[in-house]
Amino acid sequence: MGFHMTFYLSYKFRLLLLFTLCLTVVGWATSNYFVGAIQEIPKAKVFIANFNKAIVLGKKETLTNEASVKKADLDNCPSTSPYLRGQDKLIFKPDLTLEEVQAENPRVHRGRYHPEECKALQRVAILIPHRNREKHLMYLLEHLHPFLQRQQLEYGIYIIHQAGSKKFNRAKLLNVGYLEALKDENWDCFIFHDVDLVPENDLNLYRCEDQPKHLVVGRNSTGYRVELHRMKIIRPMPEVGKYTMIFHTRDLGNEVNIERMKLLHQVSRVWRTDGLNSCIYKLVSVDYNPLYINITVDFWSAP
Ligand code: UDP
Ligand code: MN
Repeated sequence: MGFHMTFYLSYKFRLLLLFTLCLTVVGWATSNYFVGAIQEIPKAKVFIANFNKAIVLGKKETLTNEASVKKADLDNCPSTSPYLRGQDKLIFKPDLTLEEVQAENPRVHRGRYHPEECKALQRVAILIPHRNREKHLMYLLEHLHPFLQRQQLEYGIYIIHQAGSKKFNRAKLLNVGYLEALKDENWDCFIFHDVDLVPENDLNLYRCEDQPKHLVVGRNSTGYRVELHRMKIIRPMPEVGKYTMIFHTRDLGNEVNIERMKLLHQVSRVWRTDGLNSCIYKLVSVDYNPLYINITVDFWSAP
């Protein structure tokens, strides 16, 4: 009986010892992890700051030509550009070519422009989801470049092209465009633009305010996500927010989504995770064309 008891006690004791040991190990490991993590953040920050500094310094050192000095010395552009014209009557020449549009915009390089006379108040990335709408794209570029230049903006036009014949996913293309454009430049502002909507009035300013702005007035929108963020949407005056919609029939691969209502219903559940942080895509190519930057992506799984 005594033997039995001793064995029982020592077994319990050993269990306790093991348990305490485990606790100690776990405690040590986690405390170490947290300390390490907290220390690493500022370290990483400092590293990135220094890295950026190095890049900026490098740039300054190499760009000692006259043009770069001039650019740094420029005054800010005025809050209202002197080149604005207001409402315009848009003409779409049937025989227009992309070469002509290019010739009309000699100051646009690799899809980008900045005013020469002053320092733009904002750097704006225009994101245009695209597939199989070459003609629309040409007319939009023809009007959009002079339109943005009259607003004295620094800008880049990004065409986000969906490769293949899977169902067209406009929202996902815009997410990709946002992530990819930021690799080029630390843009101040992003404008999401349909390829078939051409702005008629240059008082409709393509720049960002504190709150998101819906540039098209009178067309139905998909602003529900934005409302979940409890932000108000600013809209320009109806006479300013006019667009010419280039006529088209419904494209193949862009049929009305029969699960549309179901998707809308689940937005309140999934919007926080179903966006930028879950954006998986295959980058096929990035081409710097004279009038726009073309980003081709492939979504291999079903949207
Ligand atoms: N789009 C495209 N190719 C397609 C379908 C859509 O380029 O096959 C882009 C294009 O920018 C278009 C936008 O997605 O303006 C919205 O699609 P669509 O014009 O069909 O929608 P609507 O608003 O006219 O119903
Ligand atoms: Mn359309």
